[in-house]
Amino acid sequence: MKITILTLFPELFESFLKTSIIGRVVQEGIVDVECVQIRDFALDKYKHVDDKPFGGGAGMVMKYQPVLDALDSVKKDNSYTLLMSPQGKVYNQNKAKELAQKEHIILLCGHYEGLDARITKHVDEEISIGDYVLTGGELAAMVIMDSLMRLVKGSINAASLEEESFEDGLLEYPQYTQPADYKGDKVPSILLSGHHANIKAYRHKQRLLQTKKKRPDLIAQYTLSIEEKKKLEEEEDEE
Ligand code: SAM
Repeated sequence: MKITILTLFPELFESFLKTSIIGRVVQEGIVDVECVQIRDFALDKYKHVDDKPFGGGAGMVMKYQPVLDALDSVKKDNSYTLLMSPQGKVYNQNKAKELAQKEHIILLCGHYEGLDARITKHVDEEISIGDYVLTGGELAAMVIMDSLMRLVKGSINAASLEEESFEDGLLEYPQYTQPADYKGDKVPSILLSGHHANIKAYRHKQRLLQTKKKRPDLIAQYTLSIEEKKKLEEEEDEE
């Protein structure tokens, strides 16, 4: 997979692309990442990339010409272009999985008051990372890259992804590590039992309970089996 970022601030990506799992994925060439400076495509002597909005109003708008020329310089037949935008469809794990199958993703980052609206004709999708407004699309691009790069084959152990939050519409079970007892606060004894089948059943029940408690919207969409319904009812009776 290849990811191309179109941005006015490539330096923001430097440490992100060198650190931890993402750093290894880049270093091992599992995902090829390229940052393209949109300013390099400005035609005037001062490399202007923004101007006042037609019709008046506050702030500056990123100009169509340098953005379109930057996009055209990297777009290929197999490219899928995403415009970072608070007006886009809100990003989620299913979208990350879908994007992890693409051969070439282009992430276009806006800044200032955003981009000249004519650019939207040239992108496949507008994507938002949530209902709030950032100063620029760079953090949104990093969120999207981080979530999809870890899903690309070879990035991390496939088993780590299996029971993660949002798999099968449920959140993950709670995790614990050493020490088993810290100042009298103990981890659930079943996890120390070595009984794999019981641990599996316990963890599945915890997934159901955590999801019901923290994300009632997700449990409402999840189809509970008769057995799972029983487990949740047992817990309600105990409360
Ligand atoms: N004036 C725009 C509006 O009200 O819709 C907001 C522009 S914002 C200050 C500048 C840039 O940040 C946007 O062009 C976009 O690339 C990025 N951005 C801001 N919020 C975002 C979000 N929630 N998700 C993705 N990108 C976002």
